[in-house]
Amino acid sequence: MERKRIIIAIDGFSSTGKSTMAKALARHIGYAYIDTGAMYRAVTLYCLENGLVNADGTIDETQLIGRLGEIKITFGVNAETGQSETYLDGRCVEREIRDMRVSAVVSQVAKIPAVRRALVAQQQAMGQEKGIVMDGRDIGTVVFPEAEMKVYVTASAETRARRRYDELVAKGDATVTYEEVLHNVTERDRIDTTRTESPLRKADDAYTLDNSHMTIDEQNRWLYDLYCKISGE
Ligand code: C5P
Repeated sequence: MERKRIIIAIDGFSSTGKSTMAKALARHIGYAYIDTGAMYRAVTLYCLENGLVNADGTIDETQLIGRLGEIKITFGVNAETGQSETYLDGRCVEREIRDMRVSAVVSQVAKIPAVRRALVAQQQAMGQEKGIVMDGRDIGTVVFPEAEMKVYVTASAETRARRRYDELVAKGDATVTYEEVLHNVTERDRIDTTRTESPLRKADDAYTLDNSHMTIDEQNRWLYDLYCKISGE
């Protein structure tokens, strides 16, 4: 069957495994995949490396807004792993942007309206041709309100913190504790859902997926079945 090319928007709380399922679906159906969280994380890394994060964790907004035009975020595919990686001003930062020091302040950066406007414009340009799976917090509500397929992913905070903690430990981060990760996850949820500029919320026409008790295979299957249903119509 000839399927129409669509836009797939996947939103939800931190560490729900959105990226894992979005990536798997994109690979399976031959779509491009964009991790918008990585873009907010790259801007945050820029702030940390350029002294734009104040001692109290707030951001030097004036400086950042003045420099937004010079921060270049791009994606490339790692030839060995076949995975998409994030580049900041031509340098691969895939590893650094996942560090806890970035996670600790990323939601502060993401709530700045000028930052959101700049990144949303780039994201919209990337989706012009359709055939894209994009994950984030505001994809179905702000970036592509007209997306043909919208999914809102959720799971309990404890489940999400446990997954994120296991991931960090597997990557060799021996300094982090489970309590720290749980605190970070719930704090980011709080900031992301209460900010004035495009807060995280379920789009009215999004399908909800609670994957607290699902395996990765089960959630991939659920997502693929939904895609078949929507794109085959
Ligand atoms: O998806 P990830 O957890 O890597 O995103 C990091 C942070 O970036 C989120 O906690 C949120 O503050 C911000 N974000 C956002 N809008 C998006 C994607 C991410 O505000 N579309």
